[in-house]
Amino acid sequence: MDTFIPLSKPYLGEMESANLSACVNTGWISSQGAFVSEFERQFADLIGAKYAVAVSNGTAALHLSLLALGIGAGDEVIVPNLTFGATANAVIHAGARPVLCDIDEKNWTIDCQQLKQLINQKTKAIIPVHLYGLPANMQEIATLAELNNLNVIEDCAQALGAQVNGRTVGNLGDCGCFSFFANKTMTTGEGGMVTTNDQVLWQKLLLFRDHGMKPEKRYWHEVPGLNYRMTNIQASLGVAQLDKIDYLINERCRINEVYQHYLASCPDISFSEALHQVKKVTWVTSILVPDPQRIQIALAENGVDSRRFFYPLHKQPPYFVPEHPEKSLYSASQSVARKGISLPTFVGLQDEQIKRICMLIKKQLLKLPALEQ
Ligand SMILES: *Cc1c(COP(=O)(O)O)cnc(C)c1O
Repeated sequence: MDTFIPLSKPYLGEMESANLSACVNTGWISSQGAFVSEFERQFADLIGAKYAVAVSNGTAALHLSLLALGIGAGDEVIVPNLTFGATANAVIHAGARPVLCDIDEKNWTIDCQQLKQLINQKTKAIIPVHLYGLPANMQEIATLAELNNLNVIEDCAQALGAQVNGRTVGNLGDCGCFSFFANKTMTTGEGGMVTTNDQVLWQKLLLFRDHGMKPEKRYWHEVPGLNYRMTNIQASLGVAQLDKIDYLINERCRINEVYQHYLASCPDISFSEALHQVKKVTWVTSILVPDPQRIQIALAENGVDSRRFFYPLHKQPPYFVPEHPEKSLYSASQSVARKGISLPTFVGLQDEQIKRICMLIKKQLLKLPALEQ
């Protein structure tokens, strides 16, 4: 058997080592330190946003955005039913209620038809999630937000570099939230970022990130803030990762194309479909198949890691919504969640390995009819 192929693996080089050493050698290891502001400046440039605020992780980025926008008790925030739980958890920790919305069956992001119907007097914000690198329908979301005076917080954790109409995600709502966990497109170990073009919001983000203390009056708290600061150590990795960010983004897209090439002849496999005028990126290659468990088992037996999709939120204890007796509100998210698997995707994965993974998948799909008898 070949060596184990993980789902994901960070791509770290000499610049990362050198920057880390610089932190240690100079003693600048906390959030005070030149790498943090350098990282923020470069990241804002990459997104095309005016401001970027580095934080300790992606969940903190979401929570901080909600707090800075003044969203809390009594408010409702609409989130897609198919996402990583952090999107909804942040809403709950802000004191608001996450309202679950089904997804579009073709592109796996929030369904704007249902979204329209969920908006009421209590709705304060929408958090579209650009799932697996595919941007949500931001034109429609912007229209609905404008009409109903709602904030838009983009969850960009899986979509660094994706674009809508030539504008990068993270630059399409009131603010954009990113994660730099080790399996994301770029990493700082743990880490996150909020981007915005709004100067007032930017100042509130800074305030809440640093205990709610007035920058010019130490130990004077304007609001009950948090410590969501990023360390100079994390930011030193971030700066090194940004140095090769085009390569990191493009390689994942290329890997996805190689998968598509080898799986093209399989009618039983589908990929997500991009909306009009959207440039999708790949976080991890993700496919829908009729019997994902069986494929996952076969891959595991051959030393290949894979992941099921997220469970629909409405079935899980913190966000539970009972099923509608006649017609499920969440049929698309349930169907996509049931059929989805993510495949190894990381810089350094060889085309030969992708070919082998695809052959294993095809072999299982060809056996399917026998199993279904
Ligand atoms: C990774 C991720 C997050 C959370 O980021 P952390 O850095 O792990 O806190 C939030 N939303 C989505 C969609 C994610 O994929």
